[in-house]
Amino acid sequence: METNLVDNCLFCKIIKGEIPADIVYDDDKVLVFRDIDPQAPVHLLIIPRQHIARINDIGPAEASLIGHIHLVAVELAKKFSISETGFRLVNNCNDDGGQAVDHLHFHLLGGRKMNWPPG
Ligand code: 5GP
Ligand code: ZN
Repeated sequence: METNLVDNCLFCKIIKGEIPADIVYDDDKVLVFRDIDPQAPVHLLIIPRQHIARINDIGPAEASLIGHIHLVAVELAKKFSISETGFRLVNNCNDDGGQAVDHLHFHLLGGRKMNWPPG
């Protein structure tokens, strides 16, 4: 598979195995690991294996990847027993969205009641 991993990107380093992570799922398109600072009993990060800095950067070529990420999220919600109780799938984009790591990722959070509106 063609890769475009970036040297100074934390999540690219996890993909390359240069930084350890508690990986719970992986396939040819995505990697899923536990967040290092969990905000809920289940807090997973779903990331593409290709470097995409933020969701602003996707286009029609990424449509199936984004769909796949959602299918994986639903599958993992079942596996981690938060499917029926409920969960949140979150993407933070840029400063106001609270994005800290510039490699596209979706947070899968569950195992507790979430608040709305978010902070
Ligand atoms: P963002 O704020 O960009 O949406 O989310 C970045 C997430 O990455 C945060 O929830 C943060 O806890 C998590 N994170 C930051 N560094 C690491 C790391 O080295 N390993 C893991 N597993 N998660 C990390
Ligand atoms: Zn990256």
